[in-house]
Amino acid sequence: MKVGFSAGGDPVRCGVVRSASEQDIRNSFINCSKGEAKRLPVPRNLATQPWEDLDFLGWHDPQAPERSYLVAELAGDLTGIALRIATQKRGLMHTNICSLCLTAHSGNGVSMMTARKTGEQGRLGNSAGLYVCTDLACSLYLRGKKTPVNGSRIEESLSEAEQVARLHTKLSGFFTALSAPVSR
Ligand SMILES: [Zn+2]
Repeated sequence: MKVGFSAGGDPVRCGVVRSASEQDIRNSFINCSKGEAKRLPVPRNLATQPWEDLDFLGWHDPQAPERSYLVAELAGDLTGIALRIATQKRGLMHTNICSLCLTAHSGNGVSMMTARKTGEQGRLGNSAGLYVCTDLACSLYLRGKKTPVNGSRIEESLSEAEQVARLHTKLSGFFTALSAPVSR
């Protein structure tokens, strides 16, 4: 499914991510150097990912869990971003809602993840952030294929397809924010 999105320029379209090779994924990163993209840990189980249910592929660096990666299909191109999880310590009483899939998790189930902006803005140290499910399994929560351990899905009147469309719009917006100049 494809969703139109416009932020004052050409429409950016975001769709369910297609199956991708390790090299496709490494080539897709827009906010890290070629050297970093070459070294970053791409999941070894690409062949068994549930691609048809994934709005994006997200994973953590097993050696450095504060580093995470997200690859989505944007305007027909595979586009990857490197993210960092802001340090946080939250009790189980504390609940946050993922901004992409609107799943509520207690404790550290939702994290603020920041991504360096692309190009000159990134070199100047600017970044953009997103509250997102720490395990990056939003696509599966949304489709009822995964149940939050300490959390719940908000009851919504929107259909699953509409919720998927909303996720794509929000994700497109985040990618757009990464390449947007800083507003003054
Ligand atoms: Zn989520």
